[in-house]
Amino acid sequence: MEKILNYINGELVPPASGQWLDNYNPAIGKVYSQIPDSDSKDIENAVLAAKNAFPAWSTMPLGERSNILLKIAEGVDREFESLAKAESDDNGKPVKLAKAVDIPRASANMRFFATAILHFESQAHQTDQQAINYTTRSPLGVVGCISPWNLPLYLFTWKIAPALAAGCTVVAKPSELTPMTAYLFSKICKEAGLPAGVLNIVHGLGSKAGQAIIEHPEVVAISFTGGTTTGKTIAATAAPMFKKLSLELGGKNPNIIFSDCDFDEAVSTSVISSFSNQGEICLCGSRILVERSIYDRFVEAFITKVKKLVVGDPADDNTRVGALVSEGHMNKVLSYIELAKEEGGKVMTGGERVIVKGRCEDGYFVAPTVILGLDQQCRTNQEEIFGPVVTIMPFDKEGEVIEFANSTAYGLSATIWTENLKRAHRVAHQLKSGIVWVNCWLLRDLRTPFGGMKQSGVGREGGWEALRFFTEQKNICIKL
Ligand code: NDP
Repeated sequence: MEKILNYINGELVPPASGQWLDNYNPAIGKVYSQIPDSDSKDIENAVLAAKNAFPAWSTMPLGERSNILLKIAEGVDREFESLAKAESDDNGKPVKLAKAVDIPRASANMRFFATAILHFESQAHQTDQQAINYTTRSPLGVVGCISPWNLPLYLFTWKIAPALAAGCTVVAKPSELTPMTAYLFSKICKEAGLPAGVLNIVHGLGSKAGQAIIEHPEVVAISFTGGTTTGKTIAATAAPMFKKLSLELGGKNPNIIFSDCDFDEAVSTSVISSFSNQGEICLCGSRILVERSIYDRFVEAFITKVKKLVVGDPADDNTRVGALVSEGHMNKVLSYIELAKEEGGKVMTGGERVIVKGRCEDGYFVAPTVILGLDQQCRTNQEEIFGPVVTIMPFDKEGEVIEFANSTAYGLSATIWTENLKRAHRVAHQLKSGIVWVNCWLLRDLRTPFGGMKQSGVGREGGWEALRFFTEQKNICIKL
């Protein structure tokens, strides 16, 4: 069985402990590879390598640093097919989706920051005729990047690309559930000539390898994407050590449909924004709020389309909904459906595990599920389910829907459907969400800041924000 290796100091190495963990393909419900069960010893080796690599990497001329990162992007493009397959084998998502979204975006992340760093600026301020101030920005040092399982290579590169471009050296841990693309990525880095120790990828459990990164005194900043509960644990460890922190956490995103929307477009895109990647995207809309005058029509059109979504083998081109990432996660999603029923919800379609015939009969599939009849405050509408489950609720007034939308502890993203421009601006400004899409979903410009409000996160990633995060400022004041 294939053994995934750590990437430390430029070499692919087994874990110091000699211990391994099983890596499941969730679509077939079977172990298909093993990953290092790394511990603090591996993290120590990785941090030492990153520390030794920092002086040369942080002072390398920007053009050279940029070229190496561009070569990595070319490597991702070259390995497109194998990365897309690995992404699907690890995560259960349709290969077609990995080809359309995950892998192109991973390459775009590398390219974006490889070129952005060439144009990064700092500022100068003249204080009347008395002094001139100029501000420098220098890379922080060794940083930790920890990423989740839902968009494995996409979010992994979203973190490490700005860190590397800014001149930091990195110790990174992908989710234990989806390690394969990061492993293939480490081979690409080797081939691209990334100097030893600049990027170190250590596989293993969050509670062991991940926690060792957070606790290590030489790791000066943490960029983390994952659940809100894990984010709290990380902050509790890192904040008293005065580490710089970027936390991208969970969401419970509202999708608001006004009666003056482009109806067909709102229905079609809402199906995608609810069930893409099996609903396992932090930006999926899981609460659909529909103006009462079109509520019945919307519900009918939406459910008709949802019933046509093909749940099946992720390798099949017709599949729209693949497997959930693990048996544990599938059971969590199913338990939320039971909770919704206890809370008085009516399951209109889905609501159960799907057995896919053939090689996937032991896979972890759940039918796209639509639930009506719940109130805003029930747990189903307040807690993140992170699966193919949406609720639909009617509203009467603009003020009321804003209150509903803002009623959870989260504030990651929101979508508004309306043809009324003034209303679009008015509502968007009042939503407590880090990103608001109007008449679209998941359209991303990598230059824009990205991040959540409230318990969806602290700090902003993307564009200049990410390069600023991985650098520290110094102001030099010279008397004239
Ligand atoms: P988790 O919080 O469980 O894990 C995220 C990462 O943190 C994993 O690599 C995990 O390792 C690691 N980890 C767990 N415990 C610790 C610890 N004590 N110290 C350090 N690292 C640790 O999230 P999931 O992987 O389950 O991802 C799903 C969550 O991510 C959802 O809540 C989703 O909303 C959120 N998310 C947010 C996004 C955003 O941009 N805001 C984007 C995508 C997802 P291991 O897997 O081994 O436990």
